[in-house]
Amino acid sequence: MALGTATVDTRAVTHNAGVLAAHGGGQLMAVVKADGFGHGAVPVARAALAGGAGWLGVATCAEALALRAAGIAAPTLAWLVRPGEDCRAAVAAGVDLAAGTPDQLVAAAAAGRAVGREAAVHLKVDTGLARNGAAPQDWPELVRWAGKLAAEGGLRVRAVWSHLACADEPGHPSVPAQLTVFDEAVAHARAAGLDPVRHLANSAAALAVPAARYDLVRAGIGLYGVEPVRGRRFGLRPALTLTAPVVSVRRVPAGTPVSYGHQYVTRRATTLALVGLGYADGVPRAAGPCARVWLAGARHPVAGAVTMDSLVLDVGDAPVAVGDEAVLWGAGRWGEPTAADWAGWAGTNPHEILTGLGARTARRYLPTGFGDHLPAGGGHHLTAGGGGD
Ligand SMILES: *Cc1c(COP(=O)(O)O)cnc(C)c1O
Repeated sequence: MALGTATVDTRAVTHNAGVLAAHGGGQLMAVVKADGFGHGAVPVARAALAGGAGWLGVATCAEALALRAAGIAAPTLAWLVRPGEDCRAAVAAGVDLAAGTPDQLVAAAAAGRAVGREAAVHLKVDTGLARNGAAPQDWPELVRWAGKLAAEGGLRVRAVWSHLACADEPGHPSVPAQLTVFDEAVAHARAAGLDPVRHLANSAAALAVPAARYDLVRAGIGLYGVEPVRGRRFGLRPALTLTAPVVSVRRVPAGTPVSYGHQYVTRRATTLALVGLGYADGVPRAAGPCARVWLAGARHPVAGAVTMDSLVLDVGDAPVAVGDEAVLWGAGRWGEPTAADWAGWAGTNPHEILTGLGARTARRYLPTGFGDHLPAGGGHHLTAGGGGD
């Protein structure tokens, strides 16, 4: 059963890239990891590049190579290299690699020498997230290693970068503290003779922390249209609408328990509509009794537990018919919930809602032309194939 459809408006991605690039001041790296946060990495990358992004960012070399295989040649950074991973194909394809340890530098340089093309590395300093990158006390050693390996051939240092922990909370004291550590790391690298591109900001910092913008900002969630800074709006447009058809409709009396565990009991005679999307498709079970779904022009509560493949809506006396399209989340323009609403109901972040979209859900792209997965019947290509990236 593949009943859900995710319709991605690539024009919204292009618009959001424009907003982020304008705020970024310098350059925008569009973060298209995790299949473009569930939207489809290739069409999102194309749409973001059309909107002004100059770089693409992904987690893994495989993700970067998938972009290259689709003919996208834009500068691309992969920042999570598996221990012992063979990076030769990525280096040969001109993919930049992150390095936060001497071992990672040695591996990048070895790959560079093997393929006869310098590996371009982005040296990562941990300024306070404690996730990856060199701790400040290990930074001089990492810079020393980079200089040594660059002199031997095989790599060159393109950038110095880091990542913020609390950029989405305006005024959080960790933000200026991380900027200070970052500035010191950059100063050290410059003193060692490097002239790196500097990048630190995610979407939230790109929009709300001017001092964090440096030369390049890395935006993920904002690209997909989720406002990343608590309490502020920057005119971003959600790009993805998740829909599924009503597969059956039943009239039931008051007092009817619904779904596993019988936690939900109808309060009056009502209509129950079964919608073909469940938690295996990324609808969070934890959204529980708060969850609402848009159907027949109104929001309706999810009745009882979301199941693996489907959920039940209590639609009251609304005139709902089999085949009607329910909207799980979308841009919020007519009153339908957004991914951010679902995140709030489920106690998670919108990133997890979007990246949780299951493989059974079909992807459809508006306008056709950016997508590699055109709906049956096609549609004409708006862009010339191949070039332009
Ligand atoms: C995912 C990620 C981003 C994007 O962050 P958003 O908050 O989604 O803009 C940027 N940088 C790194 C290193 C990431 O892992």
